Amino acid sequence: MTKFIFVTGGVLSSLGKGLAAASCGALLESRGYKVAVQKLDPYINVDPGTMSPFQHGEVFVTDDGAETDLDLGHYERFTNMTATQGHNWTTGRIYQKVINKERRGDYLGKTVQVIPHITDEIKNSIKKIAGDDIDIVIVEIGGTVGDIESLPFLEAIRQLKLELPVGDAVNLHLTYVPYLQAARELKSKPTQHSVKELRSIGIQPDIILCRCEKHLPEELRAKIALFCSVPVEAVKIAIDVNNIYKVPISFADQEVDTLVCKLLGLPHQRRKMEKWEYLSSIIDGPMSEVNIGVVGKYVDYPDSYKSISEALTHAGFHHKAKVKVHWIESSRFEKGENLEELDVVDGILIPGGFGIRGVRGMVEVVQTARTRGIPFFGICLGMQVACIEFARNAAGMESANSSEFDDEAPFNIFYKLRELVDIDEMGGTMRLGAFDCQLEDGSFAHKAYGKSFISERHRHRYEFNIGFKDQMAEAGLKFTGMSPDGLFVEIVELENHPWFLGCQFHPEFKSKPFECHPLFRDFVGASLAHRQTRDKVGAEETAREELV
Ligand code: GLN
Repeated sequence: MTKFIFVTGGVLSSLGKGLAAASCGALLESRGYKVAVQKLDPYINVDPGTMSPFQHGEVFVTDDGAETDLDLGHYERFTNMTATQGHNWTTGRIYQKVINKERRGDYLGKTVQVIPHITDEIKNSIKKIAGDDIDIVIVEIGGTVGDIESLPFLEAIRQLKLELPVGDAVNLHLTYVPYLQAARELKSKPTQHSVKELRSIGIQPDIILCRCEKHLPEELRAKIALFCSVPVEAVKIAIDVNNIYKVPISFADQEVDTLVCKLLGLPHQRRKMEKWEYLSSIIDGPMSEVNIGVVGKYVDYPDSYKSISEALTHAGFHHKAKVKVHWIESSRFEKGENLEELDVVDGILIPGGFGIRGVRGMVEVVQTARTRGIPFFGICLGMQVACIEFARNAAGMESANSSEFDDEAPFNIFYKLRELVDIDEMGGTMRLGAFDCQLEDGSFAHKAYGKSFISERHRHRYEFNIGFKDQMAEAGLKFTGMSPDGLFVEIVELENHPWFLGCQFHPEFKSKPFECHPLFRDFVGASLAHRQTRDKVGAEETAREELV
């Protein structure tokens, strides 16, 4: 029988509820339990696919092609689960389902209401994740307790806990305990109010997880316990750590999972934390340093590239190197200006993106990486721009473009795969999810993966126009990854370059802390090598100058 943990958040947003849920999942897995983590988002959008990255951060894509909240990335990185469409529901999608049923006449003439119809649909979406192969479902409710929007979700988990046998569900509430500099004190009042709010809608937390910058003194824990009606040992601390991959260990030190198992009546199984401890030892151990320039469109809001930055960190773990990311807005390079800013980086990554803004600057950056032998990794839009740059500057197609940026260009080397169903309907018109790709022997990609067939996640509308393949290949671009039917270009590379690779898919979604993605691993490896060469050349130059 599957058990449930419902995770709610109080006081304010951005407390790391997703990480807390993912870390609990990691700990329970370390005890041998099979875990799934689900996110329920209170906004009306059917999925985050149509939202600006500035609004919502990254859209995380699953194998089955769902466009989901970025917290699902944490879940996959911290646990062994594979997220699907069913692991992320929004208010919009719940309502869409209910309204479709209503139109079909499924409700047999009844008045359709929030309770029970919306709440039933929410409960069904949670129960669908449960099953014989899952011991524990962790359900994270987005938003902050007290918001109007999340009420149906909270009501649904209240009902579900009631319906389940006693001891089959626990409520975990994440709150904030601020440190007031003037009073030199941590303050418990916001937590008390948040729990009061939760209790007013019928939810009594079983565990209170206090996010704080400083250690919570025993008296304050006791005070929170008393005012929030939980035993003192149920007040746990989510203290700031220097690396998110230390959170599971911090929770384990406080026996968060032991308490969860006790409350859920789960048999005590020994916790195996070796791999998390190994990561911590790398994080705290000696590390070399490598500078990676991420040249993109949404760099002011790094959550837009969450999986990219995590995948770079994972590759750093592999090489025992601290990856210092320089987030650079691509429009800075628009007219070929400011390119000297790239002098400090050892490798350049151009991530995904939509729309023409910043593309001209990206083209300049690709040219710099290509001609100066700087390791280059282009992902999705980054790969498309790499092809555009090569077509223009190396294959004699000066006006080469993607029809996304110029519909009239004589050489549209990227074109839209399917016409939009309706111009107003942007959702659901992309190549989404996992697709196979065949690799060419001896390529950078083949060396990285160590095999010939791979599957990676996609999220794009435009495809390389195969009609230009020969012309580009003659000029020296290598097409080293193709769809098995040979129709779609998946990977391009350059020979005679330390490491230059563009891929149409998003490898960042499949990188894990213990198993970094092979392309990120080799890109960071090439960047480290580039750095060493640069350092050597720099040292030789200094020596020469001193001799003079
Ligand atoms: N805008 C490009 C396309 O839709 C690239 C998308 C992306 O980078 N995810 O094909």
